[in-house]
Amino acid sequence: MFGRLPDERANLELCKWYISTMGDQNGYKPFPKGFATAAIHHAQEPEKWDSLAVVPPIVTASTFKQDGPANPRQYEYSRSGNPTRDVLENVLARLDNGKYGLTFASGLGASVTVLGLLKSGDHMIVGDDVYGGTNRIFNKMAVNYDIEISLVDFTNLADVERSIKPNTKLVWTEIPTNPMMRVVDIKAVSELTKKNGLILVVDNTFLTPYLLRPLDLGADVVSYSLTKYMNGHSDVVMGALVTSNEDLYERLKYLQNAMGIVPSPFDCYQVNRGLKTLALRMRQHSQNAIVIARYLEAHPKVEKVIHPGLPSHPQHELFKRQTSGHSGTFSFYVKGDLDDTKNFLAGLKLFTVAESLGGYESLIEIPSIMTHTSVPVEHRALLGITDNLVRLSVGIEDVDDLIADLDQGFNQI
Ligand SMILES: *Cc1c(COP(=O)(O)O)cnc(C)c1O
Repeated sequence: MFGRLPDERANLELCKWYISTMGDQNGYKPFPKGFATAAIHHAQEPEKWDSLAVVPPIVTASTFKQDGPANPRQYEYSRSGNPTRDVLENVLARLDNGKYGLTFASGLGASVTVLGLLKSGDHMIVGDDVYGGTNRIFNKMAVNYDIEISLVDFTNLADVERSIKPNTKLVWTEIPTNPMMRVVDIKAVSELTKKNGLILVVDNTFLTPYLLRPLDLGADVVSYSLTKYMNGHSDVVMGALVTSNEDLYERLKYLQNAMGIVPSPFDCYQVNRGLKTLALRMRQHSQNAIVIARYLEAHPKVEKVIHPGLPSHPQHELFKRQTSGHSGTFSFYVKGDLDDTKNFLAGLKLFTVAESLGGYESLIEIPSIMTHTSVPVEHRALLGITDNLVRLSVGIEDVDDLIADLDQGFNQI
């Protein structure tokens, strides 16, 4: 339907088509009301500070004066609590419709803190294609503490249910999975975890609370690598957990201080600043990505596109029921082998060859030789992570320029 290099009019048609598929329409959930307002104002009242600063100050102090011995006001020591961090944690909680937010020095810092909820002899169920670093913590580190792990394909609920044992305590899943974009039915999984008294953690790094709110669907904890879309500017490494469960919050907050995996006040400021434009950015990432997915689907040098917002995705309907759209990250197969795929990447000028995702700039990578080398070869083959699979993190540049760039890459094959 759409040409390879859409002219102005074709692009307008793409945009119109796109707008008709997103938020509130065509089966997607509406965009969350008041989201941008909360991101900008919640917990940021200038009256909080003696200076009436409109932008929350970066408080770098490691320690705080006490009114007398053992008589602190709000803060004692910056590992246990910091004013700049508090602002960010409060706004994060609000954006997920949660009560409590906690931030960590990285996304994996958040994951390892969750692991701290378990003790030896406990069992946890983890998605079989979760983020490689998450898999490493659970599969390589946790097993040394006699914590038992089952890796399960969460698109098969019966398998998840069968994996529950008397010592199961925690269930960890991602949506959509990376790079295969498999979609989990969070509500159905949460019914299972509630019935069995298990803690459900959903890693929502790929969609952000603008597009999906797992707590509303029954998750107990939402986990983030803030490094990606939430900060959105590829200049901070940080993680977060959000929950509405007071007991879990108290335990996780204790661990945040006890394990010491806290972020710096400067990084908290940066992420808080990034959140101010999250709604705008996500709409643009989302729109650019679906336009590019459509372009790729029609391209003769593309074998297949895997994007949960495309009707060709096998779980498209399930995806729409839970979200307000997809972000900028998806995958596709080049028609060809590893050399063809490398040549395609070499021909690109705007898309930067790099790992990570979620920044304003477009990135591209080959998972089999970059992000997913830690996944054993047989398992990679099972998942479909072959050498001609490419993952894109579509940025917020002008989409015409991105498409012209991809065209230039395809000319190299
Ligand atoms: C990047 C990522 C992580 C790890 O976060 P870091 O900030 O790199 O430690 C965890 N989960 C997902 C889905 C990610 O993409």
